[in-house]
Amino acid sequence: MITIHCDNCERELELENKTAGTKVACPHCGDINRVPEAAGAKPARADKAAAAGLPPDHGPEATVRTLRPCRVRARPLSFTGVALVMIAGMVGVVMGLTSEGREWLAILGGIIGVVGTGVLVVWWLKTMSASLVVTNKRTIMKKGILARSSSEVVHDNIRNIQIDQTFWQRVWGVGSIGISSSGQDGIEIQLNDLKGPTDIRKVIDLYRPL
Ligand SMILES: [Zn+2]
Repeated sequence: MITIHCDNCERELELENKTAGTKVACPHCGDINRVPEAAGAKPARADKAAAAGLPPDHGPEATVRTLRPCRVRARPLSFTGVALVMIAGMVGVVMGLTSEGREWLAILGGIIGVVGTGVLVVWWLKTMSASLVVTNKRTIMKKGILARSSSEVVHDNIRNIQIDQTFWQRVWGVGSIGISSSGQDGIEIQLNDLKGPTDIRKVIDLYRPL
């Protein structure tokens, strides 16, 4: 018999020896617990990541994926709208400068162009300020430009990876990813507007002891 305590409800669980090195659901709360390997036993875990052609599960830490939110793909309508307004502004500038008594059109077009550029710069800064780095050991999220914050989850401790996509986000292949780990309440890593969130989850899953 192996005796462990549930990570979640902390109740004592009595398990058969053959469960060593596997995962079992707590009969009281349903939380998934890892049962330690039997003493002296070698972990016989196959390296799924190496089999898929990615950096191996063991050994030195290596970056597997670096991702940034994609603003254009995530907001195709807004982006098209801003682009059209900027084109209209440029047409206004040209028309205002080439025809008599229409200087106001050039000024208006210039203002529209400056505002549109500002919107694009803000989007670009937001995109550059957030990143998700997946290594063979952990996933690290960084946010912020001047004040940077980062949080990370070790893959062995991941409890859940949640993907959220609206209908249109599915069409455009973007979505948000949320990662929570055992031992912490709530979602520790949350990043929106990521391209191919289900692929990111598949890559991370290769490094999880599932
Ligand atoms: Zn429990």
